[in-house]
Amino acid sequence: MKKRPVRALVAKAGVCAGSFSMFASSVVLRLSSKIKAKWPATVSGADATLPHESRGRQGFWEKAVRLQASASNPPPPHAAKTAAQALALLEAGNQRFVARAPQTEAQGQAPYAVVLGCSDSRVPIETIFDQPPGRLFVVRVAGNFLNEDNLASIEFSVAVLKSKLILVLGHSSCGAIEAAVAHVNDGTTQPGYIQDLVAKLGPAARNVRADPGDWVANAVVENVKLNVAAMTGRSAIIAQAVKSGEVEVKGGVYDLRTGSVTFL
Ligand SMILES: [Zn+2]
Repeated sequence: MKKRPVRALVAKAGVCAGSFSMFASSVVLRLSSKIKAKWPATVSGADATLPHESRGRQGFWEKAVRLQASASNPPPPHAAKTAAQALALLEAGNQRFVARAPQTEAQGQAPYAVVLGCSDSRVPIETIFDQPPGRLFVVRVAGNFLNEDNLASIEFSVAVLKSKLILVLGHSSCGAIEAAVAHVNDGTTQPGYIQDLVAKLGPAARNVRADPGDWVANAVVENVKLNVAAMTGRSAIIAQAVKSGEVEVKGGVYDLRTGSVTFL
């Protein structure tokens, strides 16, 4: 299989340094052979067998952040420079929320849909679907894939809360998918638990490796499809609910540039 240059791949994917900066950074790190020669950025295969806490090189994150900042797509500045400032922003935001006397649904919830989405900060599920509290049962994990715990959460919403729709929502330029593609392409390995997550996205990256078009974009769609299928394949509760017509499972991809969701 022809090895596809990650530089071209990332450029095509329009990697912007968003909330998944760790992934994007490490992909960026792979791009420059000059930089790589001076400072190998990835964890070696041997390191990958070490305890998670022991993996990686000292200063990995600092250098990754510095490299990212010098990339062509610098990240937007943080709204807070310290944890204290971040907490203050959260407190102030919550006070504004309370001041609007929001509908908080304290008496109970009846979410009509479950959404399995990515943790990416640019894809806030309730916001992009313009939904108030109580309407959506949201499960988020980087790379929007099923694991035992989020599957349990989804089963709960279907079996107990009687949600009608399960939506697996991927998004463009997903850093987790980019990392999975980079791993499949040239063995790029992430430090810590990140690689465990990235490995779970490997099938999506591998399945579309030879497909025409943008590898990352294709893998985003493939990942959604795989997890839509896995929903009923792994959960007897969901499979039964689908069979009886109580719930349907759909997939979608959110476009970071336009804000629109394409349902598959
Ligand atoms: Zn993502």
